[in-house]
Amino acid sequence: MKRLILHVDVNNAFLSWTAVDRLENGETFDIRTVPSIIGGEEESRTGIVLAKSMLAKRLGIRTAEPIYFAKQKCKDLLVFPSDFDVYNKYSDALYEILTNYTDKIERFSIDECFLDMTSSLLGKTIEEIAKEIQLRVYKELKFTVNIGISSTKILAKTASDLEKPNRIHTLYLNEIERKMWPLPVNELFMVGKKSVDKLNSMKINTIGDLAKTDPKLIIKKFGKTGIMMHNYANGIDSSDVIHTKQRPKGIGNETTLAQDLADYNKVCEYLLPLVEKTMYRLRKEKMSGTVIAVKIKTKDFQILTKQKKLHAATDSTKEVCEVAKELLRDVLKNHHIRLIGIRVDGLVDNNEVQLSFFDTKNTDKQHRLDCSIDKMKDKFGYGMITRGSDLSKS
Ligand SMILES: [Mg+2]
Repeated sequence: MKRLILHVDVNNAFLSWTAVDRLENGETFDIRTVPSIIGGEEESRTGIVLAKSMLAKRLGIRTAEPIYFAKQKCKDLLVFPSDFDVYNKYSDALYEILTNYTDKIERFSIDECFLDMTSSLLGKTIEEIAKEIQLRVYKELKFTVNIGISSTKILAKTASDLEKPNRIHTLYLNEIERKMWPLPVNELFMVGKKSVDKLNSMKINTIGDLAKTDPKLIIKKFGKTGIMMHNYANGIDSSDVIHTKQRPKGIGNETTLAQDLADYNKVCEYLLPLVEKTMYRLRKEKMSGTVIAVKIKTKDFQILTKQKKLHAATDSTKEVCEVAKELLRDVLKNHHIRLIGIRVDGLVDNNEVQLSFFDTKNTDKQHRLDCSIDKMKDKFGYGMITRGSDLSKS
């Protein structure tokens, strides 16, 4: 049976969502109507463009380029900081609308969903449903989406990318020769820069070139990945829309102390394993957090919290430990406490942060270390591997 898949992709997501949020909060000026960008960590000079308005795009500003270069292309460029709480809010609102059309929805990233509409058409055509979703999202949430329609996920995703913004495209098997094959091969799903270089050296420049090349040659050069690439170029992809469970908005752990304590170092001994557990759970969700909060309950049951917003999302146990210790110092003072807790909020998919934040060697090393400890915990039992001394240093 032929499947019917939609891919819904928010146009300039971070920028659109920032614009909508500002308008909702009483701002009258729409930042989408001028050259503007969302920049990560502008003050650090290493900041890059995370999203851009259509007008910024027209001036040649590109995603992932340094903000410094972007500003050289446009003197009046407006730069806004990223705010993942806002993004999560609109991402959830979009998802909520989509659940009205099918329950087979896969949240592919913060601003993209796949919908399997095969048995959910209810007498309408797939094009009518796509149009309805597009209008409804704009009417209720005030931002635009691109929608791709096809019989496979990869083709639907490629379709939604064809021409932006606010467009609906079909890309059925009988259309790939005309609509997909002329595209440069780097636009094929999952084909990274290194593969593109290799393909180009084989005189494969377009997706069509790849599709028509003898698969044996591709497999010889790329192994198993080669089969996949050759299949994708020919529109072959049997992967299902995976209904993903709702992502958590925050993850936290807390514990009651064996006795009331006021000593910072002693309380730390309780706090650090909680951080370790929280971060382990966060990494299991393949997410990173941007807001860290420490909570205490005093011996007379007063609840006090301190929180800190990070410049960049993290899933590093060490980094969150350091922040948590600092917050504990601020909140503890001379209180005798009976309970301590840690919470990480402002969660984002690691897919989303990768581009901007996992780019330093250090973060990458830390991430690998954390993941290898997680794996040992999974293998030998969570409690068998502890890293208390590693974390209480510094
Ligand atoms: Mg998008």
